[in-house]
Amino acid sequence: MLNFICTNLIPLLGVLVLVSPLTVFAQESSDNESPILFHDSHFHLTNYVQEGPDIRDFLQIMGDEVGRSMVCGIPLQQQWMHASTGDFAPTYYTQTDAPLYYYSFTDAIIAHAYLRLTPEERDRFDPMITGFNPTDMYAADHIRRVLATFPGVFSGIGEFSIHKEFVSSKIAGEVATVENKALDRILDFAAEVGLPVVLHCDVDTPFPKPNQDPYIVTKLRELARRHRDTVIIWAHLGLGRVVRPVEDQLGMVERGFRDPESKNVHFDISWDEAAKYLVGSPEAIEKSAAIINRFPERFLFGTDCVAPKTRDDYLQVYKLYAPLFAKLTPEAKQMLLRGNYERIFDEARRRVRQWEAGNLNKNPYVISK
Ligand SMILES: [Zn+2]
Repeated sequence: MLNFICTNLIPLLGVLVLVSPLTVFAQESSDNESPILFHDSHFHLTNYVQEGPDIRDFLQIMGDEVGRSMVCGIPLQQQWMHASTGDFAPTYYTQTDAPLYYYSFTDAIIAHAYLRLTPEERDRFDPMITGFNPTDMYAADHIRRVLATFPGVFSGIGEFSIHKEFVSSKIAGEVATVENKALDRILDFAAEVGLPVVLHCDVDTPFPKPNQDPYIVTKLRELARRHRDTVIIWAHLGLGRVVRPVEDQLGMVERGFRDPESKNVHFDISWDEAAKYLVGSPEAIEKSAAIINRFPERFLFGTDCVAPKTRDDYLQVYKLYAPLFAKLTPEAKQMLLRGNYERIFDEARRRVRQWEAGNLNKNPYVISK
């Protein structure tokens, strides 16, 4: 996603980001006496055609300023349909009318990349399982099979998508929905193993009619209540390229937080497309900062960068959020950028390893019903 935006926006943003990034980092670092600026709670090593940097090159891109990163592939593969685009090879879903399909091998690619690292290097990553079809009652069995095939590797599941503008309608087969029993089965299994779930689900449909109720919000609330023991990280606060904040969006989020039954729900503020709303005006910055300051344990920072080629590509979203970070309390900023990641993923590593030790029998390919 970011690559696509970068190619379009970088000429404009470049004018605004003439201040040396290193100057910005030096100031940030002295603020909190650590060279680590953030842990990345939302990162894709591969793109929509399963290509991306070598994980060791990505470590170089992270440098000393990025501590840890969740790492996932993309669960969908964009088909190169010659009848549609001829010799033009699309790498992004908006570049062709050809369908997307679920690509399970992405999990093997991520596990293989991780296993090539030294133990010290592995400690900086939390690999995630994404390569399943969330409408398939067997999806949970895929997740179990991946854990069995690559024990000691994975920390969670996602990012996977339910409602996503321009994407959901391009996937061949049954369309994913929040009420699908297969999704319940996935979230039940995640709770059993201790896998946090990074879920993309747009908060509304693109171009809604005025005063149209965002029906997805109600269904998501019910989903979170049905799965109180599952740690859910709702990606991008449900925002998208054209899915914009519904009326009273932050008020809605706040009402959700006040529900004592919703303690399992977190939000990540990843993706430049979410940043364009959250830091889009002085008023938006004030409102976004206020809610993060009030509920600092519920928000995580992520880049949502896809297969970055350069350090500048990778750090673009972090830089976009500078005006928001400036309005946070020191405690809220620390939790957003690092503390919540450590709390959620340290616990995930502990629980998943414990589950693997007790549950992976000699034949991991037995189907569980
Ligand atoms: Zn993403």
